[in-house]
Amino acid sequence: MHPALKRAVIDTDFPEEDKFAHLPAAKKDVTVARGLTAFLTVQEGCDKFCSFCVVPYTRGAEVSRPVHQVLDEARRLVEAGVREITLLGQNVNAYHGTDAGGRSVGLGELAYLLAEISGLERLRYTTSHPRDMDDALIAAHRDLPLLMPYLHLPVQSGSDRILKAMNRKHTGAEYRALIERIKTARPDMALSGDFIVGFPGETDQDFEDTLTIIRDVGYASAYSFKYSTRPGTPGANLGDQVAEEVKTERLYRLQELVTKQTNEFHASCVGRTLPVLIERIGRMPGQVGGRSPYLQAVHLEGSADLIGSIQMVEIVGTSTNSLVGRLAIAAAA
Ligand code: SF4
Repeated sequence: MHPALKRAVIDTDFPEEDKFAHLPAAKKDVTVARGLTAFLTVQEGCDKFCSFCVVPYTRGAEVSRPVHQVLDEARRLVEAGVREITLLGQNVNAYHGTDAGGRSVGLGELAYLLAEISGLERLRYTTSHPRDMDDALIAAHRDLPLLMPYLHLPVQSGSDRILKAMNRKHTGAEYRALIERIKTARPDMALSGDFIVGFPGETDQDFEDTLTIIRDVGYASAYSFKYSTRPGTPGANLGDQVAEEVKTERLYRLQELVTKQTNEFHASCVGRTLPVLIERIGRMPGQVGGRSPYLQAVHLEGSADLIGSIQMVEIVGTSTNSLVGRLAIAAAA
């Protein structure tokens, strides 16, 4: 291991309470200036060792913030005006913080505890590993309206051979079955993903398998990257690297498919009435902007008084990367 990476691993290896103690407490003026949404780090590091990823080496072993710290921080954020919290972690759904009795609490149970905070309207979390989507977390999606129906759940590849080489420890079929279970619990769940093209040894057929899983799952959005070697990771030592022009062509085809799916997802929202958290003044006079449950930007006519509230908004059209809506009450008048 590179000496710098080694030092980073040692530096992050200290007790859980200390590890998160440096995080500043929420202050009202800072929160108001920042907006109605906030990120809350609950977990750092990762034990998964995907063969392309530096996180387990640079951030160290998976460490979770104790439950009381998370709840205290969430309450302070809500008191300071925050309405939506996104729980953050490199592998956030591996969260296993301890409660006051020393019991290990998973992300699903943590979501139920956060749901009891009066004034917290929306809850999200990112980034998750498929193997850590346990029954309790899926049940939380079924039971908790504040847990938004938009989940970033990377699969990286649709080829079992490449998934194995990536050390993802699941197959494409297992991922598909998981998506089914999540959608059974929360039928309106929209998915986002990450994809790596051109992992060492990826054949044309492997890549076609990735396009197939994208078509089968249907993503509301996705991030995609060309594989590049990360020093110190097992992937860096693999032979059979894919030629740069092949990676470029595959990335183009994958992004074309995902863009089509994203546009279709936006279009499928037209005619629906969605709860929108109004967050800011819009770019045009008399407009405000906010976010749908699916994290889409929504623009509509409305006064600044609406900022901070959740309004039912009829979606009447789409624009580049956003939706156009009108207040449902105004539409009915
Ligand atoms: S890709 Fe995610 S799950 Fe895999 S090692 Fe990196 S942080 Fe962990």
